[in-house]
Order: sequence, then C-alpha cells, then structure tokens
Amino acid sequence: MYQLNEKIRELVPYQPIAGEYSIRLDANESFCMLPQEIEEKLLQACRQIAWNRYPDASCRELCQAFGDFYGVDPSLVTPGDGSDELLSILCNAFLMPGEVLMTAEPDFSMYRFYGSIAGAEIRCYPKPEGFAISVEDWIRQIQKEKARMVIFSNPCNPTGRGLSREDVRKLVRSVDALVVLDEAYMDFWDQSLLQEVCQYDNLIVLKTCSKALGMASLRLGFAVANPILTRALWAVKSPYNINSFTQAMGYVILREKQWAEKARKEILDARDGMVEALAEIEARFPEKLHCYPSCTNFVFMRVQESKRVFDNLLKKGIAVRHMGEYLRITVGTPAENKEFLQAFQDVL
Ligand SMILES: *Cc1c(COP(=O)(O)O)cnc(C)c1O
Repeated sequence: MYQLNEKIRELVPYQPIAGEYSIRLDANESFCMLPQEIEEKLLQACRQIAWNRYPDASCRELCQAFGDFYGVDPSLVTPGDGSDELLSILCNAFLMPGEVLMTAEPDFSMYRFYGSIAGAEIRCYPKPEGFAISVEDWIRQIQKEKARMVIFSNPCNPTGRGLSREDVRKLVRSVDALVVLDEAYMDFWDQSLLQEVCQYDNLIVLKTCSKALGMASLRLGFAVANPILTRALWAVKSPYNINSFTQAMGYVILREKQWAEKARKEILDARDGMVEALAEIEARFPEKLHCYPSCTNFVFMRVQESKRVFDNLLKKGIAVRHMGEYLRITVGTPAENKEFLQAFQDVL
C-alpha cells in the first residue's frame, strides 16, 4: 500500500480567500490598471510570439529590460516563475536536508513552507513587540544555530516595517549563511541592496513583478546576485521556466518606467491617506486597534476581535487578510479605501 511521506502527509493546498468580493484588499496587489496604450503594446507583443517554439532559455531581452529598469547588470539576473519559484529552487538546491534555514516570525509564510519541503530545519527569530528587529540579536541567533540560509522580507510582509540598509549590510557581513533578501516591497521604500550584490559572496536579492509593477497575473520574479551564485541558480533552475508569453509581456512592462513611477506614486499617496485615516480611527478607539507604521502598500494592525471584524467585512464584500489577532489591509483605490474605512468603523 502506497503512503505519502512524512514531510508532505499533513500538507494542504494553499487556499487564498475564495468567493466573489467586490473589494479585494487581501493579496497586496496593485490597484493601478494599465493605460490603453500599454495594453496595445502587450497585444502587439503577443502577436509576435512563436507559439510552437520553446521559449528563449536565456531570457535575454527580459533580463536586459529588468537590468535597465533597476540599473543592474543583466548578467547578474535570474528570472523565476514568480519569486515563489525562486524561493522553492533556493531551498531545494542550496540547502541539504537537515541544514538550518533561519527566518523571522512573523514574516512571509512561504519561506518555512519551501524550507520544510526541502527537508531543512526551520528556526525563527521571534520579532519583539512592535516588530522592530534588533540586528545584533538576530546575528547572534543565526551564528548560534549555524544557519546555512537566512530568508526574510525587507520591507516585511506582513508587518510593513523595514530594516535600514546599514542593518542589512551588517547582517550579511556577519553571518556565514547565504542571505536571501526578499525585496518584494522595496519599490515602496528606499533601502535596497540591489546595487551592491557583487560586494558579498552570500547575498541574493529577490524582486517581483507582482506588487508595485502590478503584474501578479504574469508570475514573474527575479533573483539578483554575484556571478558565482547567479551561475549556480541558472544551473539548478529548469531551463524553460519562463514561458514565451510571460517573457514578452514582462519585456513590455519593464520598459514602461514612467508609467511604473506614476503608479508607484499613486499607491504611496493612497497608502498615506489610509494610514492617516486609520490613525484617526485609532485615536477614537485606542483599545480596539493599533496600527503599525508602513513602508509598503499595505497596513498591518492589531484589532480586537479580529476574526469577527474580518468576517463582517467579508459579509460587506470586502476581503482583507486575517492573521491571528492582526489584520493586514492592502491599499486599494481611493474609492475602495473610503468604502473599507466606512465599513471598518461600522464593524468596530
Ligand atoms: C507577494 C510576495 C512575493 C511575490 O511572490 P510572486 O511569486 O513573485 O508573486 C514574494 N515575497 C513576498 C514577501 C511577498 O509578499
């Protein structure tokens, strides 16, 4: 009789919020729609695709466009089927079973998930009250656990808080582990280490098109690292992981820097408006909620009776993310945010 092995026996498929909700503030997507002229360019590019052929395995044009967009050498870039795939590849190929993967708690849950599938021992740095990390503490713990890999998001999903560039540099320099720095939300902040990957033998920076660039549908992410790590990544990933459609669409989008900058500003304005409005609500109901500062496109808050609030928002057609005693609210359009804020106050 066939039996599933221990490491996957208890796993259940990932289930995002199902059902139809008129306002989706649960997945940190961008609310910015593409202007018609960019949609036209996408359609144009779609018509050029050689559907019967395998994709360009080198992703030459795509990596060039990514390099131009972020000002990095394209030879240091590895594309993935979302940064999720890169996380999976990193855990499975760069860790041996039983080696220690260190992450933080709370942080993006996928790190533990891919780590445990790879058979790694998972250790977590428990973030203190308020979620501001003490880098010195964390470095000590990483050294003590003899971690082989450290993965964390900066700025952090779900807390919305960030570590300064200087703190991250200190961490990367002080540990023997490979540091996977997930900068999925760094487009909303200014402490990136993308430009300096070649100064370290142990740093991989992950980027994604799913958040600020508004292309979650495409499944496209990138790893940026020094030539040795980059070569290893290319050697272990599957050769045709980025299909021709995604390559073509990604190429178009990554050349729309002006639009991307406009969208980014719109999101940041909406975020600032949301933070301000929530601060007013918090001032009125200080015992019912506490909001944390955000350098991302979402706001994290502790909410009394968080499950009841979450369920009642869902009933009003508004999906947010429920995480224990916290809610994470993605910033939507000004109209969506207004509707959310009204519903939220009513429910409170
Ligand atoms: C959304 C998100 C990603 C992006 O994943 P993709 O697979 O590229 O869509 C990566 N890391 C974090 C922390 C995220 O929140």
